[in-house]
Amino acid sequence: MSDCVFCMVANGEIPATIVFENETVIAFEDIAPQAPAHTLIIPRVHYAHVGDDVPDDVLLALMKAVPEVAAAKGVTESGYRVIMNTGRDGGQTVNHLHLHVIGGRRMAESMVTFTEGT
Ligand code: 5GP
Ligand code: ZN
Repeated sequence: MSDCVFCMVANGEIPATIVFENETVIAFEDIAPQAPAHTLIIPRVHYAHVGDDVPDDVLLALMKAVPEVAAAKGVTESGYRVIMNTGRDGGQTVNHLHLHVIGGRRMAESMVTFTEGT
């Protein structure tokens, strides 16, 4: 996908601070961090979202990267939250499958927040 910013990150066309990578996934710092630790994990290959016929090995690689990122960011012991926004109501703004790994501060106890309106 030539117009996808995360494909551009994966291709090296957009610079990013890489936290972890292997042959299947890349983890890099979010450009607008919501917490002291805020890293995104993406598959190198473009899938729009988790329902986009994502192969098992890619799903596994995404999840296996989570503790690697947590360790790299120093939040293994303090804890962190893993988020996957999907579609319009899920608040997904970049349509390339990704996980957020967020930590370094206490999260709200509620897992969800809602936005008024449509
Ligand atoms: P979403 O809202 O789709 O779940 O999350 C997309 C995330 O990507 C946002 O947190 C946003 O700050 C981040 N983001 C958008 N464009 C870029 C970019 O070009 N580079 C990096 N590193 N992060 C980006
Ligand atoms: Zn993409």
